[in-house]
Amino acid sequence: MENYKRICENVENARAKYRSSDENIDIMAVTKTVAPEKINFAIEQGITLLGENRVQEYLSKKDSYIKTAQVHMIGRLQTNKVKYIINEVAMIQSVDSIKLAKEINRLAEKNNRTMNVLLEINIGDEASKSGVAADELDELIYETAQLENVRIKGLMAIPPAGCGEDMFDRMHSIFLRVKERSVPNVSMDILSMGMSGDYELAIKHGSNLIRIGTALFGARNYLEG
Ligand SMILES: *Cc1c(COP(=O)(O)O)cnc(C)c1O
Repeated sequence: MENYKRICENVENARAKYRSSDENIDIMAVTKTVAPEKINFAIEQGITLLGENRVQEYLSKKDSYIKTAQVHMIGRLQTNKVKYIINEVAMIQSVDSIKLAKEINRLAEKNNRTMNVLLEINIGDEASKSGVAADELDELIYETAQLENVRIKGLMAIPPAGCGEDMFDRMHSIFLRVKERSVPNVSMDILSMGMSGDYELAIKHGSNLIRIGTALFGARNYLEG
């Protein structure tokens, strides 16, 4: 797959330019509307991380996936759908309310596991986007950190397309600020930020998990999806 090779090269170049050599940057393949054969081909090329947006779509496709890749939920997640994925994903990146965190905790406990989560910030303050407002993050961290079967592993954001660098920089500052505080039960290991159009910029500003759809698989066809 040419696309994957090119992305790896770009990531490596951005890492060499902006980051230290011991920092790892993970490339997630975002699978929405993509056929399982294409996803499996990406896994054969070296992809180890898949990002799912839609519960229903994922459940209908997952049995066709090669099992070696880890799957994260990255899309808006309704509380009443957590039960379908609690044992089907390794991480939920789109936690943006205490209500959702509590339901994840309840079902994780019931299923004898802990769930790794990222807290999603609506960094662009866009009405159409999910994510907690930046000034409500501390409260969400504090409340979520009390939940025994949930582990906060970092932050996720979708900076608005073409928003410019300060928003990426702001997100990085928030991430570092939380990290410095060392809240119990909270480890700021992952900053999930950057998509097809802006992943190099995201890497420049501290991202260590980029989520790539179209640059890897081509334009999405929503009619098929
Ligand atoms: C679709 C999507 C992506 C990937 O977007 P591309 O621009 O196609 O790379 C990344 N993150 C989330 C949350 C998405 O919904």
